[in-house]
Amino acid sequence: MDTKEIIELGTEFLTPNYGRMPLALVKGQGTRVWDADGKVYLDFVSGIAVNSLGHCHPKVVAAIQEAATQMLHCSNLYYNQPQIELARFLAQKSSLNKAFFCNSGAEANEAAIKLARRYARLFVSSERYEIITAEHSFHGRTMGALAATGQTKYQQYFDPLVPGFRYVPLNDVSALAAAIGPHTAAVLLEPIQGEGGVNPMTQEYAQAARELCTKEGIALIFDEVQTGIGRTGKWFGFEHLGVVPDIISLAKALGGGLPIGCIMASDRFAQAFTPGTHASTFGGGPFITRVALAALRAIEEEGLVDKAAVAGAYLTQGLTELAKRYPTAVGAVRGAGCLLGVPLNISGGKVAAAALERGLLVNVIGDKVLRLLPPLNVSKAEMDEALQILDAAISEALT
Ligand SMILES: *Cc1c(COP(=O)(O)O)cnc(C)c1O
Repeated sequence: MDTKEIIELGTEFLTPNYGRMPLALVKGQGTRVWDADGKVYLDFVSGIAVNSLGHCHPKVVAAIQEAATQMLHCSNLYYNQPQIELARFLAQKSSLNKAFFCNSGAEANEAAIKLARRYARLFVSSERYEIITAEHSFHGRTMGALAATGQTKYQQYFDPLVPGFRYVPLNDVSALAAAIGPHTAAVLLEPIQGEGGVNPMTQEYAQAARELCTKEGIALIFDEVQTGIGRTGKWFGFEHLGVVPDIISLAKALGGGLPIGCIMASDRFAQAFTPGTHASTFGGGPFITRVALAALRAIEEEGLVDKAAVAGAYLTQGLTELAKRYPTAVGAVRGAGCLLGVPLNISGGKVAAAALERGLLVNVIGDKVLRLLPPLNVSKAEMDEALQILDAAISEALT
């Protein structure tokens, strides 16, 4: 099928919940993807921060082939070694010792919310249930994660929402201090808000949140679904902030391109998940955990976390030059590593369409923030090419 036929069939048979670009992708290799008509693109979206090793990394492909012949599923009624080795790898990197595995980012946040609430009710006070989150946050689409998300546009007409969530402006310490009270069970924050427009948390705010949660004896949860696994130039976003949270949620890049989510929790908070209190049928199965472990080992062996930091600095420099060339259209770049946002004063949709035409995939948030999410091993030549295309695309969108 060619692109036109695929889009027609998709319109007929898929629910219309995605605003898709007119593009059908069939193949990927490294930072390149091919569409159904054979046109090649530079991929600076990476499946929204999922394909951090690039497409079809040979070590991930080999792990998939090997894992498929060993065992696909066995249930959490039993132990499986790959799940435990993956947990150990993540514990060593995060210093949070206990893992619970699930299948997506939203599901990981559901687990984090349940763990924090159960801990607070059991060990602090039975009156504690409220989860404080940030305005413009994004935590996923399931009912609990949706209630945690501080953006009404995602919630409209899905009400009644799950009760017990309260939103505060990000980086406003006094608003957070005022919101915390005898009903608070946890504070849930993204180190850098991804879907909300690439908005970094300040160190000062992170440290205040840490102190407030410690004082109340409740969990500080970081949603690292987008920022985790090297994306920001550190293994975890919290490493930029000088604090260690009690619970983090992970997903996107964790499986090297395949679906898996998890939470990592300190020993203290993890004890609230006693046998039978939470579960996932598919969570942490031997197939996906073998693949995830291979992906993480490849990230480590190839030094991709440091490479993401270097690439991010190079891209930031290039994007800053762009902002100088188009001062009325392009604002100051923000974010860290390979999670960068560029505020625009012109239609982001137009810029993305012009970039697509020229062979570059980029993402736009709310038509006004360009988000760049290249793979962590993106080359200098690929970044130069993307910057050139962006320059031309902005120039076209201006006229
Ligand atoms: C993508 C994302 C989620 C949701 O993940 P899904 O796998 O789509 O459920 C949650 N939190 C953050 C910060 C995300 O970026």
